[in-house]
Amino acid sequence: PPPVEKYEYQAEVSRLMDLIVNSLYSNKEVFLRELISNASDALDKLRYLSVTDPELSKDAADLDIRIYADKENGVITLTDSGIGMTRQELVDCLGTIAQSGTAKFLQALKDNKDAGGDNNLIGQFGVGFYSAFLVADRVTVSTKSPKSDKQYVWEGEEGSSSYTIKEETDPQLIIPRGTRITLHLKPDYKGFADPERVQKLVKNYSQFVSFPIYTWQEKGYTKEVEVDDDPAESKQDNQDDQAEGKKKTKKVVERYWDWELTNETQPIWLRNSKEVTTEEYNEFYRKTFNEYLDPLASSHFTTEGEVEFRSILYVPPVSPMGKDDVVNQKTKNIRLYVKRVFISDDFDGELFPRYLSFIKGVVDSHDLPLNVSREILQESRIVRIMKKRLVKKAFDMILGISLSENREDYEKFWDNFGKHLKLGCIEDRENHKRLAPLLRFFSSQSENDMISLDEYVENMKAEQKAIYYVASDSITSAKNAPFLEKLLEKELEVLYLVEPIDEVAIQSLKSYKDKDFIDISKEDLDLGDKNEEKEAAAKKEFGQACDWIKKRLGDKVASVQISSRLSSSPCVLVSGKFGWSANMERLMKAQSA
Ligand code: ADP
Ligand code: MG
Repeated sequence: PPPVEKYEYQAEVSRLMDLIVNSLYSNKEVFLRELISNASDALDKLRYLSVTDPELSKDAADLDIRIYADKENGVITLTDSGIGMTRQELVDCLGTIAQSGTAKFLQALKDNKDAGGDNNLIGQFGVGFYSAFLVADRVTVSTKSPKSDKQYVWEGEEGSSSYTIKEETDPQLIIPRGTRITLHLKPDYKGFADPERVQKLVKNYSQFVSFPIYTWQEKGYTKEVEVDDDPAESKQDNQDDQAEGKKKTKKVVERYWDWELTNETQPIWLRNSKEVTTEEYNEFYRKTFNEYLDPLASSHFTTEGEVEFRSILYVPPVSPMGKDDVVNQKTKNIRLYVKRVFISDDFDGELFPRYLSFIKGVVDSHDLPLNVSREILQESRIVRIMKKRLVKKAFDMILGISLSENREDYEKFWDNFGKHLKLGCIEDRENHKRLAPLLRFFSSQSENDMISLDEYVENMKAEQKAIYYVASDSITSAKNAPFLEKLLEKELEVLYLVEPIDEVAIQSLKSYKDKDFIDISKEDLDLGDKNEEKEAAAKKEFGQACDWIKKRLGDKVASVQISSRLSSSPCVLVSGKFGWSANMERLMKAQSA
């Protein structure tokens, strides 16, 4: 037999394997994602090279991945018909850490350790091939490169500082091209060698790998078989049956094993959006996010140039966290793929600002590394550009709903996500221009249907220069605010801000289409109708009364003034120009209570 050669791992690899084996990291299942993504890479390489050298793929035309789970023995075998490895490549790829991803992982791990962190980085990075040792204590890699006429077997064991390479000699194990990885699972993880579990993992992590992934599955079909005559039956009956040409049958299930295609090879986002139906988008939404209601809107787009990615975004029909919870940013709403391999759905404001965290969707990037981590995401220029484009598309989509003929859709949207957009006004100055047209409020002239700021502006009086609002805790109390009298008399429309967040949102916007927002409860409200003569006369007549009232009230008020802003109420309490409005004061009190 050909010799078995022993090699020592590069020191970093030993360290990495040590970490993996001793890791407390609970999400062991990532090993399958890593191995599938390597297989997919190997197939990609072969496909790419065969373009110029068709000889490479002549021995086995099918480019696929096959996963065989042997429950009894606790063994998983993963075979691909990709580019394979030569003997030297085995040493270079599986004995050293040359490539940048894993090296970065080790660096991050070191930084993390220095900072007193734990080992959970493995899940974020994915440690590539070596993640096999999360679940296996022995791994063999039997591989055949088209560049070599021999097939080689690499074998490594948990806890060992060396691995072996020998030539594959068993004729039964010879493959025309590609790589077969065999995982001998640790006793605690033999449960992974379950065809159904493997199927589930494949669906979850690699549903959209562009090569077919087959898993070995037990199947069954029902067939009818004739049953033997019941000896208890009389001969007479039997003859009757035969006379009518009838035979007794029963249904049995025939079981057999076969390869089953487990992934969808053409992800919907790679298809031409003109050829995908709304129902298909909706189904993808429901399937991907485990929803039973259809989304309110979807947007499918590709960006090219500086940064390349494809995406499908959705506006959900309801807010899953409840309408009031706008600060939950960890939603698992965006699934990030890199070249069709699922990377993560655990984002924290990297792809969308938190007020848009209700947007769901998939993003498939061509420019990010497969083992992209939270740290990389946060610092990446590519991600920053992606975020900008995603946010723009999300706004376009929401604007689309607001322009739809079906007013109910936007009412539904606003009911669920209005608070989010108002939070956006406060937190995202850069997008004020996109946010403002989406806002909706009740007003003195529209108490039952909310209006947009555009509708308000259209409805403005010729001489009106500002957008008036009053903040209160309900429409009823807003309506009865004495500040309103003069404005109603002049038929000036006043927005009713009745939700706690409204006032701060409007104040953040400051103006809309060059019209300032003005709080009608503030002391300097100027409706452009000052009559100096009249005011002077009133001051003369009631000045003493004002002084007397101020004396009586003392520190409870800042000042007592003559005003022309009321028409029937005798007096009104207003807020100082620079102070909090009464509404804000009420809110602040409620918060600190
Ligand atoms: P990465 O995939 O980030 O390069 P891995 O640790 O996952 O890192 O894999 C290391 C290297 O081993 C790969 O870059 C590749 O060259 C080689 N390799 C791993 N699996 C396969 C495979 N199934 N077929 C061919 N080469 C492979
Ligand atoms: Mg890899």
